[in-house]
Amino acid sequence: MSVAEDRFSALLDSAVDAIVLINTRGEITRFNRAAEQLLGYQSSEVLGQNVSMLMPEPYRAEHDGYIQRFLTTGQRKIIGIGREVVARRKNGTTFPIELSVGEYHPAPHSAARRSGDVDEHGFVGILRDITERKLQEAELLKTAEELRQMLDNLSQSTREADELRARLAHVGRIGTLGEMVSGIAHEVNQPLTAIANYANACRRLLTSGQAKPVELVSTLEKISDQADRAGQVIRGLRNLVRKRDIVRERLDCNQLLRDVARLMDFELRQAGFRLAWNLAPSVSPVMGDGVQIQQVVLNLIRNGLDAMLQRAQCDFIELATHVHDGWVEIGVSDCGPGLATQTVEHLYEPFFTTKPQGIGLGLSICKSIVQAHDGELEHVARKGGGACFTIRLPARET
Ligand code: ADP
Repeated sequence: MSVAEDRFSALLDSAVDAIVLINTRGEITRFNRAAEQLLGYQSSEVLGQNVSMLMPEPYRAEHDGYIQRFLTTGQRKIIGIGREVVARRKNGTTFPIELSVGEYHPAPHSAARRSGDVDEHGFVGILRDITERKLQEAELLKTAEELRQMLDNLSQSTREADELRARLAHVGRIGTLGEMVSGIAHEVNQPLTAIANYANACRRLLTSGQAKPVELVSTLEKISDQADRAGQVIRGLRNLVRKRDIVRERLDCNQLLRDVARLMDFELRQAGFRLAWNLAPSVSPVMGDGVQIQQVVLNLIRNGLDAMLQRAQCDFIELATHVHDGWVEIGVSDCGPGLATQTVEHLYEPFFTTKPQGIGLGLSICKSIVQAHDGELEHVARKGGGACFTIRLPARET
């Protein structure tokens, strides 16, 4: 072995990567120490053998093809850096490697070139074990797949949560609706009773033969008002069921109270009571669903009336408006017996009632309607006896 040869061997053996040299026929001419460790062969066992012994199928056949092509056409398809292939150890186990292949030639004027020694021309293969990297890659792929799965699940859950929220919103409305149905039945019943009473009055007038057309016309107008009212309540109910948002229209609270008053007029007068007025000369508008707010006021007046039917210290229910600190307040005060202490504790609870025929939903529904309008429903004892309820709604710019 020449000095240059010695140095080359020492260099090869100190390399960390497995290095295998083959001649142009594919026979192994060098097998460094790292290659011995990596593949489990002693150098003496492989020298002169075809390098394909270090490869499992299909790499073995492929490699034979490369060498064949090189020998017949000179095509160096085998050359390249970092190709991922599979190597085979002496014990038959296989493992992934990164294979870089280069070509080497005898020096221009060397004896080898002159003699055409095949061992002096060939290819050098550097083999790097990438088992660990492949495991990590597989692990990463698995993690990526798990992540993808998690994301899929997450977006599925988000979709379900959205649907659930939408359903809940609807159920919430229907829930309130369920509670409202009894209240609304009551509200519809009221104009219907009024219509029946007005119709009876008309009949009496007509059969008495003393009917003056003017009287008839005004009673008929009241019938038509009450019928409109019943229609509005039903429409409001339909809107709720239709999952529509509550109507937000500009409301003049003074006007709203006047409209409500027309509807209560008959019932109050029959009981010997009347409405008294204490309206602010001008109130800022509020935004809201007029029918719903009217419903609240009607309910409060009716409660006042019920209270005064037990015991009344005056003959009127006062309707008032105030503008206060960015709020518009609607007050409904009666002079009945007032709110008992034990009543106050449960006042807004659903199904709390002290009335034999009561449902106990009125105030809880009123409160939820007012709160849905970003407002508040409050009560205080009225000076001189009775109860005073205040609907407080945010004032809007005029
Ligand atoms: P309901 O009228 O069906 O009883 P509400 O929720 O409207 O249901 O009222 C609950 C209870 O609050 C009434 O039964 C009554 O005891 C009390 N209440 C409500 N308004 C008044 C009032 N103006 N004066 C005295 N008590 C009242």
